[in-house]
Amino acid sequence: MMADGPTPMNNQAQAQQQQEILVRKMLETAKPRSCKCGCQAYEQAIAIMEVSALDPNNPTGQQQHLNYPVLCCVKCQTVFDPMGKIAK
Ligand SMILES: [Zn+2]
Repeated sequence: MMADGPTPMNNQAQAQQQQEILVRKMLETAKPRSCKCGCQAYEQAIAIMEVSALDPNNPTGQQQHLNYPVLCCVKCQTVFDPMGKIAK
C-alpha cells in the first residue's frame, strides 16, 4: 500500500469523486428495478456485438467484435440491457 502523499488530486480522480457523490445522492431517492421474476439483483455479463465490415463507422474494413456489458438477473438470467441493444 502506498501512503497518501500531499500530491493534489488529478482532474480525473476529482471527476470520479464528484460522480460517486452524485450517484450516492441519486441512490437516496432511487427505487430498485425489479426483474419480471421479482428479483432485484443482477450479475454483470458481456454480450458480443458484431460490427459489419461495411459499417461506415468501422474504419478497419474488417468485421469487428466488440464487448458490450449487460446485466443478467441472478434468478432467471433474463438480460437487462441498459441501451436496449439486444433485449427483445
Ligand atoms: Zn429474473
